[in-house]
Amino acid sequence: ARAAGPLSVRWAGAALNDDAYGRLRMEQELRHAIAAGELELHYQPQIELASGKPLGAEALARWRHPTRGMIPPDRFIPVAEECGLVEALGRFVLETAARQAAAWAGLGFRLRIAVNVSAIQLRNPAFAETALAILREADCDPSLIELEITESAAMADADHAARQLAPLRAQGVRIAIDDFGTGYSNLASLTQLPFDVIKIDRGFVRDALEHPNARMVVAAVLGLAGNLGVETVAEGVETEEQRAFVAAHGCTYGQGYLFSRPVPAESLLAWRRNQLVA
Ligand code: C2E
Ligand code: CA
Ligand code: CA
Ligand code: CA
Repeated sequence: ARAAGPLSVRWAGAALNDDAYGRLRMEQELRHAIAAGELELHYQPQIELASGKPLGAEALARWRHPTRGMIPPDRFIPVAEECGLVEALGRFVLETAARQAAAWAGLGFRLRIAVNVSAIQLRNPAFAETALAILREADCDPSLIELEITESAAMADADHAARQLAPLRAQGVRIAIDDFGTGYSNLASLTQLPFDVIKIDRGFVRDALEHPNARMVVAAVLGLAGNLGVETVAEGVETEEQRAFVAAHGCTYGQGYLFSRPVPAESLLAWRRNQLVA
């Protein structure tokens, strides 16, 4: 990795401040990156807590920049969203994940892949249609794909979201509500949405053992999900204590550094083989 000089600091920080010059450069480089194949997906396993088996993985975008090193998504997704690149990026991500899921299924590894969807993608009236076309082209069984929609994106226009998500779900695509607990939606309004999974935000999982309020939120969400008949993923599980706590409250899946960091596709395949043998 190359030392971060003032210019690269400025460039990397451009997404976070009003540095128009840094922002413009990043925009140009990102446009190039999507076309040049500099983006890739890493996969973080989701473990079924009852069995300990890795049944799914979340696809997380990475930018392997030729000179600036590996750039995390928090840096470039906001830029993509602001400069109209998020549709192209979203298409790349879903296509790549769908081909990967189909390829693994062909090897006998039916691993469900969860794909993040930006609020801007969801707003597109052709979102569902486009996504289903991508899955068809990739020859991917829709039930191998889960789309993660953040709670705030889903609730910004719940009627629209419900209309987009219903046809996807009818084809077998699973819908997850991401970062649950951060969007201040009331639980009654959430039940208007068709979804299969609630992902409890990492902040609550992190605080669950120390802060009584976080503990109550996690326990309440897990209880509610159980009553609604939806599955749950605890994000950011880093310790055995956190795993035991969410498992004791009926959480379906765990995802976090305790199990594995996000890794390239080849590493995930090797990792999964080891898990199943062990
Ligand atoms: P997210 O959807 O909440 O993804 C989970 C983030 O938590 C990932 O960060 C993951 O690496 C990190 N994480 C997982 N386990 C642990 C843990 O045990 N401890 C800690 N401290 N962190 C953990 P990452 O990969 O940097 O992604 C950040 C965000 O960028 C994602 O948050 C998501 O909002 C966005 N993102 C990533 N890939 C995509 C994409 O393909 N499309 C869109 N629209 N957004 C994406
Ligand atoms: Ca996510
Ligand atoms: Ca999340
Ligand atoms: Ca998050």
